Amino acid sequence: MARTLIAAGNWKMHKTSQEASVYAEAFLNSVGNFRQVEIIVCPPFTSLPLLSQKLAASPVKLGAQNMHWETKGAFTGEIAPAMIKEFRCDYVILGHSERRHIFRETSQEVGQKVQTALNWGISPILCVGETLEEREKGKTESVVAEQLLQGVDAVPLDKASHLVIAYEPVWAIGTGKAATPADAEEVIGFIREKLSQKFNRDVAQKIRILYGGSVTPENVFEFVVKPEIDGTLVGGASLDPGKFWKIVEETYRASQNK
Ligand code: PEP
Repeated sequence: MARTLIAAGNWKMHKTSQEASVYAEAFLNSVGNFRQVEIIVCPPFTSLPLLSQKLAASPVKLGAQNMHWETKGAFTGEIAPAMIKEFRCDYVILGHSERRHIFRETSQEVGQKVQTALNWGISPILCVGETLEEREKGKTESVVAEQLLQGVDAVPLDKASHLVIAYEPVWAIGTGKAATPADAEEVIGFIREKLSQKFNRDVAQKIRILYGGSVTPENVFEFVVKPEIDGTLVGGASLDPGKFWKIVEETYRASQNK
């Protein structure tokens, strides 16, 4: 089944809104009306107002990098679904490894966020992935399964196809040491199998599953040409509009070779 491929950029804690504005102008010059790959930019919250205007007439979609599971209340420093939706966020990254490991988010909390996002019509990009120690101990599948199944635990069947999953091995994020495309394909195949058991085969075939971890314009083709890999979640290389556009182009080229 042909799934529209995704190139998603996670800016993490980079770029002021002024820098985001410069980026948007350069990037939009390349993008024009290109719609063959779904392009998603996930800037810091502070750039959402400006980017929601700048990107409004373009095919580029916006995502937030996190969100709280409650819709409002006494949660100092947190952000609610309505607040990101207000600025045209169709997506939200949830359970990124930096949230899990630095900010100690649990899989159960991530699952609550996934449920809230879907209730608000925002597609979660649910990140899962093992540490190097876990991989070396042969625990990749059990760790990924736990994060995945807790993350989608409360997702009803009729909303499941709106999920996006990102397999991001922790040891590959920001290290310059990407997984091999064959290893990524194997874990992503395992994730689709788990989704198939949790929901059903048809729904699992509709869910986009991305690879993330040291993706570059040079290596992206080898990942996205694999049958199970539906695109990439890109950190460092998405900060440069020229490199991110090259990733989009390579993703399109791979879609023609799948
Ligand atoms: C990420 O932040 O999700 C990521 C994969 O980062 P990088 O591409 O820099 O490894």
